[in-house]
Amino acid sequence: MNILVLFGPPGAGKGTQAVKIAEKYGWKHVSTGDILRAEVSQATPLGLKVKSSMESGQLVSDELLIQIMESVLLKNKEIPGFVLDGFPRTINQAQELDKMLQRLGWGISRIISLNVNEDELVKRLLIRAKEQGRKDDTEEVIKNRLVQYHQFTKPLLDYYKNHPGFRDVIGVGDIEGIFKLLCKAIEAEK
Ligand code: AMP
Repeated sequence: MNILVLFGPPGAGKGTQAVKIAEKYGWKHVSTGDILRAEVSQATPLGLKVKSSMESGQLVSDELLIQIMESVLLKNKEIPGFVLDGFPRTINQAQELDKMLQRLGWGISRIISLNVNEDELVKRLLIRAKEQGRKDDTEEVIKNRLVQYHQFTKPLLDYYKNHPGFRDVIGVGDIEGIFKLLCKAIEAEK
């Protein structure tokens, strides 16, 4: 089983690239942000629970995310691979993901860190706010999301950097150029 973790701050381009990767390799794109946004827009009990955290740029509880991820993996066992976009976002989520994968007899094949500097991130997130009207892309919420990233998600780099599948890719440039670098990192020998 191919398990690719696409890692990076909000605005790094994980979503755009994850869609392209999933299409090229026939893997399932799992965006926990998209899953949660769908729950919010359908006003499901889960959606109502997570709405205020999402709209203020806070992380949703590990427990909920771990349940969501486990159910997605279990429902799609026949698929040749997964691109995880936006999960794991805390050390606890990463540890639980490792346990889940172990139970399934799988493991992470690649962790790719998509690197973009902070000024560029803010610029991109503000453009996206205009284009997509995402409620969590206002200037104040963007700042909050970046704070959450630095506090909870960035420490994951230390958790993963010694993994044999860990790679860095520069996420600045045109979409196709970045995509080529990602494919090279995916296909490189371990
Ligand atoms: P994203 O589209 O990945 O930027 O996610 C949008 C929002 O969904 C985040 O700001 C969080 O509120 C929530 N979210 C998505 N994935 C996670 C996760 N793995 N852990 C906690 N919260 C998450």
